[in-house]
Amino acid sequence: MKLVSDISGLREWRNSVSGSVGFVPTMGALHNGHLSLVESSNRTCKHTVVSIYVNPTQFSPNEDLSKYPRNLQADVKKLQHFNVDVLFFPDDKMMYPDGFSTSVSESQLSSKLEGASRPTHFAGVTTVVTKLFNLVEPTHAFFGKKDAQQFRIIRKIVDDLNFDISIIPCEIVRESHGLAHSSRNDYLSIDERKRAGIIHQALKEAEDILKKGERSSRVIRETIRQRISTDALSKIDYVSVADTHSLEEISGRIEKSILVSVAVYFSNVRLIDNFEFIIRE
Ligand code: AMP
Repeated sequence: MKLVSDISGLREWRNSVSGSVGFVPTMGALHNGHLSLVESSNRTCKHTVVSIYVNPTQFSPNEDLSKYPRNLQADVKKLQHFNVDVLFFPDDKMMYPDGFSTSVSESQLSSKLEGASRPTHFAGVTTVVTKLFNLVEPTHAFFGKKDAQQFRIIRKIVDDLNFDISIIPCEIVRESHGLAHSSRNDYLSIDERKRAGIIHQALKEAEDILKKGERSSRVIRETIRQRISTDALSKIDYVSVADTHSLEEISGRIEKSILVSVAVYFSNVRLIDNFEFIIRE
């Protein structure tokens, strides 16, 4: 695995290879969710590039940029078990040199769900992902379904801006008690992580009643809210039942495929999770 922190080194490598190149963009503090994306890339592509960059522009001023977990050495060790050609880890000066003044933003999906709570977040994501796509020039890029809205927005900018890149969704990987892996889980104690499994249990309960035929969006939201609220450490930001494509909130009966998603502060750590429920038309 080549460790590359500068753009010229990355371009030099890219010009030296041919065939499929899979790309896994991350913010580091790697866990099994990230590593499953690397595995998918290894299975699908001849080459794999992983990036680690804690992108400041996707954090709001009141968020956890300065204390976001960073551990490059441990990340390098974890990646050595996989077939990674290049680990690209640029710094802020490399990504946003003085005078940087361009932004890429998507305007339909980005204001909903996470975007309502974090208004500048997705413009930060789409700008940095566009830059990384231009630098790595991948044929495939791998994104986790844990960030379901992010995945949809990336797929949208790839369509809208004609990137010749296949965007591959990867399943959510969970800890043993059901909590979706996230670098932010590092902020929680072992006991809190176990208790935060209630978020997944609540979603599963909702999925079960959907499978049994429940079609009231209100009942689905209430079921999730009630279950999560039983733990005093939790404070719900939102519970959403939305059209899986447009992310428009559904107010009445569920008649189309939906994305059911939540954001919950658990012990003050913001956690997200979701599932998709497909209704064949
Ligand atoms: P992050 O480092 O949080 O920006 O995440 C980098 C990539 O890993 C994104 O595509 C995420 O959706 C994906 N990812 C994060 N957590 C998980 C998880 N638990 N399961 C699957 N993919 C994940």
